[in-house]
Amino acid sequence: MDLFEHEARDLFERHGVPIPRGKVATTPESARAIAVELGGSVVVKAQVKTGGRGKAGGVKVVHSPDDAEQAAEDILGMDIKGHRVQKVLVTEASAIAEEYYLSFLLDRAARTFLAMASTEGGMDIETVAATKPGALARVPVDPLTGVDAARIIEAAGLPAAAADAIVALWTVFAEEDATLVEVNPLVLTTDGAVVAVDGKVTLDANAAFRQPSHAGFVDSPDEHPLERRARESGLNYVKLDGDIGVIGNGAGLVLSTLDVVAAAAAESGARGPANFLDIGGGASAEIMAAGLGVILGDDQVRSVFVNVFGGITACDAVADGIVHALALLGDRAAKPLVVRLDGNNVAEGRRILVEAAHPLVTLVDTMDDAAGAAAKLAEA
Ligand code: GDP
Ligand code: MN
Repeated sequence: MDLFEHEARDLFERHGVPIPRGKVATTPESARAIAVELGGSVVVKAQVKTGGRGKAGGVKVVHSPDDAEQAAEDILGMDIKGHRVQKVLVTEASAIAEEYYLSFLLDRAARTFLAMASTEGGMDIETVAATKPGALARVPVDPLTGVDAARIIEAAGLPAAAADAIVALWTVFAEEDATLVEVNPLVLTTDGAVVAVDGKVTLDANAAFRQPSHAGFVDSPDEHPLERRARESGLNYVKLDGDIGVIGNGAGLVLSTLDVVAAAAAESGARGPANFLDIGGGASAEIMAAGLGVILGDDQVRSVFVNVFGGITACDAVADGIVHALALLGDRAAKPLVVRLDGNNVAEGRRILVEAAHPLVTLVDTMDDAAGAAAKLAEA
């Protein structure tokens, strides 16, 4: 789960990472009041769970409460990469001498944790990695012995004054069960202090059971309404950009279905998968209805590919699930469905669907043909 910058700052504060003073506002008037309270120059920052806010005009340094109010007026309601800005953070402005990059993350390939650090801060770090790979230091971190700040400082060429902030940021990573803690930029101010001016934290949802203080982070207003609905139904759902809804049982099957649908879309006028939706092993009528309901609630979806492999739940039960789901959804099921069933008891499953003869359902035997049919149906 990704956090808002202001939530990341709460965790930073808890572990002693130096941050500029600041507060969240939801109206221009309260942004002004915070600016008055902080005095001097302030930064007004869009709170959305995406990067590149500065480039999008969502970060403004201003020098008076009037200008803070105006900046908040401009930024609130702004759309940044599909995220509507509902809150701004108002912080005191730092007098920046240098901008650095620092992150801690889980390096799955190396089966360890990794610190990444650079003197090329404030820039898009993927660009730094691609254009100046030598400028991005990578230092493994052993969780049993903890972080070696001096080694990171030396490898990346950061100032010695960054040591305390580095140790505190590692503490955030380790004690809060994060999979990413990223500060870009970590700044050196003109009076020699090191301050985290931005913060991105991703928490490991698997550790939620031992992090009661994270409960408040879950239900973010930034979450897509369909993603919330899916989560509340216990479904694994990710919204994508295309026009073909994809439902499958099991993450592996859904992933390979995405590939096949993308390939079929590339050969037709369709755009590609509209989502990833794994209904899991059960595939009961209720779960199928919940999954179809989520997908049909997406306006971008023009056709749906239901790809189910009968295992413990046999194909006849899945077919019953689809028929009952369509009955449960009634008029809300108004988009064409291509169904491919295979596996345990497939003949009976297909017979049930043929017999039901639902006008929106096309039954196709193979995954490739089904993806092709779904792509045809999605064509504009
Ligand atoms: P991002 O664009 O979403 O990564 O948002 P950031 O919080 O990183 O802000 C973008 C840029 O705004 C930073 O790289 C800084 O150059 C600038 N900025 C942010 N805060 C301050 C500040 O307190 N003082 C000054 N002078 N610039 C700031
Ligand atoms: Mn940043």
